[in-house]
Amino acid sequence: MAKSFEDIPGVEWVPGTGEFIKVNSELCSGCGNCVKVCLGSCYVVKGKKAVIQSLDRCMECGACWYVCENEAISFFWPNGGTGFRTQWG
Ligand code: SF4
Ligand code: SF4
Repeated sequence: MAKSFEDIPGVEWVPGTGEFIKVNSELCSGCGNCVKVCLGSCYVVKGKKAVIQSLDRCMECGACWYVCENEAISFFWPNGGTGFRTQWG
């Protein structure tokens, strides 16, 4: 059976961090790189544009921002701390 995020020991997602990643659809080419690297399944490509479907499982790794060659993604650390917390810090 496939594992869900709830099965990961020592990891907790804290809701309510708001919109800390944004996609500029005018710059997005729809290449799908952000979809491929995102371990949180936060993105989908619809109509040849990346769309954030949910940041509920975002691990704040910044990989989507890093791989976007068109600089279409802006990334900020969430206000007031983090939405992703591990028991190790
Ligand atoms: S990596 Fe950038 S250009 Fe490619 S689909 Fe994602 S946002 Fe769009
Ligand atoms: S920061 Fe990481 S986990 Fe969050 S949306 Fe980007 S690639 Fe996905």
